Amino acid sequence: MKKTKIVATLGLVSETKGTIKKMIESGMNVARLNFSHGDFAWHERVIKIIRDLEKKMDVPVGILADLQGPRIRIANDEEISISPKETVLVMEGSGKAPSSGQSKKVILIDLPKIVSLVNVGNEILIEDGLLKLRVVKKARKALECVVVDGGAVKPRKGVNIPGISGKLGALTEQDKKVLKFAIKHDVDYVGISFVRNAKEIQDLKRLINRYSAGKSVAQVVAKIERREAVQNFASILKATDAVMVARGDLGVEMPQTELPLIQKDLISKCLRSAKPVIVATQMMDSMIRNPRPTRAEVSDVSNAVIDHTDAVMLSGESASGKYPVEAVRIMAEIIEKTEKSNFDDLPHGFLEDKQSSISAAVAQSAHELAKDSKAKAIIVASVSGFTARMIARHRADQSVFVVTNNRKTQNQMALVRGVESYLLPECKTMDELIGKAMNLLKSKKALRRGDKVIVVAGRPHVKKEHMSLVKVEEIA
Ligand code: ATP
Ligand code: MG
Ligand code: MG
Repeated sequence: MKKTKIVATLGLVSETKGTIKKMIESGMNVARLNFSHGDFAWHERVIKIIRDLEKKMDVPVGILADLQGPRIRIANDEEISISPKETVLVMEGSGKAPSSGQSKKVILIDLPKIVSLVNVGNEILIEDGLLKLRVVKKARKALECVVVDGGAVKPRKGVNIPGISGKLGALTEQDKKVLKFAIKHDVDYVGISFVRNAKEIQDLKRLINRYSAGKSVAQVVAKIERREAVQNFASILKATDAVMVARGDLGVEMPQTELPLIQKDLISKCLRSAKPVIVATQMMDSMIRNPRPTRAEVSDVSNAVIDHTDAVMLSGESASGKYPVEAVRIMAEIIEKTEKSNFDDLPHGFLEDKQSSISAAVAQSAHELAKDSKAKAIIVASVSGFTARMIARHRADQSVFVVTNNRKTQNQMALVRGVESYLLPECKTMDELIGKAMNLLKSKKALRRGDKVIVVAGRPHVKKEHMSLVKVEEIA
């Protein structure tokens, strides 16, 4: 079974029970719902399908609700085509483009006060930088722009205006409505778009806590897609629960030639702090149209695994492409092949750090013990998932089975590399916990009689999760 997880965005081509079931069977671990698209009724229907399938198929599927954030979008109701050197007008508004009176094409953008915010010389980038305009003149109600890179301006595509977009805060009023909805529907992760600093994450966490009213709480995925987020990454990483390397917008805000190195740097920092990380955008882009990916895309997925990411993601490929199930299947195949090699193994000493906590040391010894004793698996009892993540970061070849009494933790583990999670009601003693965990894994056919395992557990009833026991056991 593959260890690196797959996050797949669901959309109109992947909204039916039959398709989602096939996607789970093919290797989808987390479903991403992009709240930039679709109405609440659509999302509610899809969430219900996922939760039904989880029960029927007896497998946890994480749900990631992605908040749109201060995304600026093309608001024309019809596609228009623009050519290099042509002069066009950019205005605030939406719907049908007004006639400019000078036969210039009009591009509508949904950013209030765009004309006063943007200056002559600014660039306006459309669809992850595919099209580019430069502002040459400012009038009262319109920006006159010359087209640098032309093509089709499609409705609802994203717009970046370097230097301006950065001034907009991370959470909009619409995001707060979406957040309330998402929490009510018990999602496992909330994605925060265009985040700039740790404070925005803390603000989001406060809102999540308030909306959850003491129920088990969704975790935050910080989408790194702005220059400021890369600069403030150390403090963002401390504040967040998980990270997404959102290469689409990041490749517009920073030179795209730096992306592969930023990806490696962010992943290795996440690994050291044991927080899950997702590599996202255009991994198999050509599969939106074709039944097979390009060689470069296959390499991209394989190399993300070699970079030690927790998860790789599909966007348009699974949300609006022609081959949503095939995209998941081929991604899983690339992952499996890569993991069979030694290229994805952690170099010796990679995780050595100064903040060597007891948990880190216990996880390290469990990992070493598993290797040296040729154990089949590591079983971890974990309430919050912290212990499991500490073990998962070693990127072991053995299976890591997590038993938890918290359903939310069970689902959140869907994002963590190499971890399979199971629900086990709370136990009174350590012996009871170990015995029941081993029986459970045997009954689920994850382990067989005679398999050697390493068990890691903390004392029950100790509030703050910390591991105190590492034991070699054999399944009876
Ligand atoms: P963002 O601007 O947040 O990066 P995006 O518009 O690039 O988002 P993706 O999540 O990458 O969107 O999905 C790719 C495409 O799939 C979208 O442009 C949209 O056309 C389609 N899509 C995604 N989710 C939905 C949905 N819930 N309903 C309908 N179409 C969707
Ligand atoms: Mg995008
Ligand atoms: Mg390997």
